[in-house]
Amino acid sequence: MKYNSTRDKSTVVSAAQAIAQGISVEGGLFVPQELPSYDESDLRAMLETDYRGRAKKIMGDFLSDFSAEEISDSVDAAYTAEKFGAENPAPISYIESGEKKMALLELWHGPTCAFKDMALQILPHLLTRSMKKTCDGKQAVILVATSGDTGKAALEGFKDVDGTKIMVFYPTGGVSPMQKRQMATQKGENVSVVAIRGNFDDAQTGVKKIFTNAEIKEKLAQNNMLFSSANSINWGRLLPQIVYYFSAYCDMVNEGRIGFGEKINVCVPTGNFGNILASFYAMKMGLPVNKFICASNSNNVLTDFIKTGTYDKKRHFYTTISPSMDILVSSNLERLLYHISGEDSAKVADLMNALNNDGVYTVDGKIKEELDKYFWGGCCDDENTQKTIGRLYKEENYLADTHTAVAVNVYEQYAEQTGDMTPTVIASTASPYKFAKAVLMSVSDDQIPEDEFSMTDALSAKTGTAVPAPLASLRDAKERFSEVCDADEMPAVVLKGLSIG
Ligand SMILES: *Cc1c(COP(=O)(O)O)cnc(C)c1O
Repeated sequence: MKYNSTRDKSTVVSAAQAIAQGISVEGGLFVPQELPSYDESDLRAMLETDYRGRAKKIMGDFLSDFSAEEISDSVDAAYTAEKFGAENPAPISYIESGEKKMALLELWHGPTCAFKDMALQILPHLLTRSMKKTCDGKQAVILVATSGDTGKAALEGFKDVDGTKIMVFYPTGGVSPMQKRQMATQKGENVSVVAIRGNFDDAQTGVKKIFTNAEIKEKLAQNNMLFSSANSINWGRLLPQIVYYFSAYCDMVNEGRIGFGEKINVCVPTGNFGNILASFYAMKMGLPVNKFICASNSNNVLTDFIKTGTYDKKRHFYTTISPSMDILVSSNLERLLYHISGEDSAKVADLMNALNNDGVYTVDGKIKEELDKYFWGGCCDDENTQKTIGRLYKEENYLADTHTAVAVNVYEQYAEQTGDMTPTVIASTASPYKFAKAVLMSVSDDQIPEDEFSMTDALSAKTGTAVPAPLASLRDAKERFSEVCDADEMPAVVLKGLSIG
């Protein structure tokens, strides 16, 4: 299977190239030329196997330049019971409230307690094999700018992976105390973490500048190194996310929650549009899905887009209690536009140029029609997020994190407004303990303690749930990284970190 660029259909690359390169030269994202198509017997075969079996089947169909053994080894190394706490890395909790049937697909049982582990535990295996196929012998240097979850998940995925080095930059003011502690205590010989004085944009811009700095690239080349990317525009991060939608469907059938062939809805708390897009690909491949419900927080640029067909990023940026969705440019939307425009790369390039130059674009009637056919958008502010956490806990005895609560709230709006009671898979994307303060405030009227670990203890005592081991162990972990620098010092920091400065 080959891959095209969303902005230039004449670009054709292999899967290994798409993953090693991350982004196409003209700025487009790599998309599969055609999708595998699963009929009833394929789906029935998937019922009989487990998560890893389903992952091998699906990823094998996309990564046609990988051997079956390479895929099998990658999957087996990534999704172990040791890393995810159980044989099934993505278990489901069911909530039935009146006629509403919700299946909370918990994607946060991995080493960093957020759903990014589902992709970042396997990406290093795919990336190192892709490098071997396309530029054998070179060392991959992964640079990440993070507002929290991605940085830690990437560090944990790439730590001590042969042939890779990873450097993560986070803004001093932009991450939660728990996220900071997770990164500062990171183990591994090939990792480094640096705080940038400034906000997330400063860190992100700094990383982008290094990626395109000819002098630095040359220095890396002389030392047999190559920059690579672990963020969600990389196909190697999107592909593993398709698996859990198929797997959830199989589990629901096997657990007697739906009939075989019955349609489901999918509701996803959305930031960069990667997670929800993976479910769209699953539907295109044969998963029976009725509607995709796109849930946003107060940064509701996608809600407006789905309603009106106009994407307008020129708006106030809100810092919310669901920070992983605080985003105004949703980069994976570009892939959806490519597919629902009939793979019109010239049109996608025009829209993306307009977004870049004017901060706004409007899609044509044909694209809007496709959007309406598949998607429903809604949003939920912080106050209603907290109310939803409180109510879910009180009425259903389910403790949700802030991101998951946004999705539940928007699903409920959808059900009220449309009357559609199709069983709905809701992506549950983080452990409530990762956002302990907001969650604790939502379920308790008591005084909130100051320190992060006192908060997680209080949340545990209040709800009788356990603090996840990866977070509990941070309390006594040794802090390894405390370097802080200005954004303009980042190039020097990178070269020094690679010992080629
Ligand atoms: C990254 C993230 C999201 C948003 O996912 P996208 O794929 O960017 O839409 C939602 N919730 C949590 C907890 C996340 O870390």
